[in-house]
Amino acid sequence: MKYKRILLKLSGEALMGDQQYGIDINRVVQYAKDIKEIHDKGMQVALVIGGGNIYRGLSAEKAGMDRVQADYMGMLATVINSMALQDALEKLGIKTRLLTAIKMEQICEPFIRRRAVRHLEKGRVVIFGAGTGNPYFTTDTAASLRAIEINADVVLKGTRVDGIYTADPLKDPTATRFDEITFQDVYNRGLSVMDMTAFTLCQENKLPIIVFDMNKPGNLTRLANGERIGTLVRE
Ligand code: UDP
Repeated sequence: MKYKRILLKLSGEALMGDQQYGIDINRVVQYAKDIKEIHDKGMQVALVIGGGNIYRGLSAEKAGMDRVQADYMGMLATVINSMALQDALEKLGIKTRLLTAIKMEQICEPFIRRRAVRHLEKGRVVIFGAGTGNPYFTTDTAASLRAIEINADVVLKGTRVDGIYTADPLKDPTATRFDEITFQDVYNRGLSVMDMTAFTLCQENKLPIIVFDMNKPGNLTRLANGERIGTLVRE
């Protein structure tokens, strides 16, 4: 195993599958199976899931809503997604704990760093819900922050594209993919990997990021085995 402890970030949209909104349970089960494969090999796995398939603060603000209120709704959306993935993982026999940045005692534990680390050491998959618990942030930032707090070896950003390209491959057919790129080069070229807050946190704490296609079953295991897929962002 190349890494001992990873933090996997999945966007909310990834859970939609081919739907326009909400949660595609088949997709969630597929992700759970992928996660089980690396967990079975002894890797410590922490997860952060977005909420964009249900609610996005910024879009709601554009439609006239108070931003802070809308952001809290977005954070609650991430908890719904986290619970869906938790269910799928437990159905596969994996022990999990959902820890949230906003207290919801009936359904999850509050986020306590030492407790999160202990769960990981005991072989439980830890899911971090409710983002950072603060409005004006994103779940990418939550992923970077939690990864640093638990001392993860790498942030794996599972997306629908297979890495970072010189330009948007959907718009520019000449775009090429990087196997590897430095943090500085990402800035210099004006590429977007994560939002700036999330990205800077990783850079300042020398935490590598791998952007890869999560929709290809088995990709997660290939990464865990040290295969070079997707794009690695490093110092
Ligand atoms: N959010 C927030 N603070 C956080 C994380 C998330 O306010 O620390 C809110 C924000 O409104 C965001 C929504 O939750 O739009 C869903 O998260 P995000 O957009 O990061 O999800 P993704 O794009 O990954 O699906």
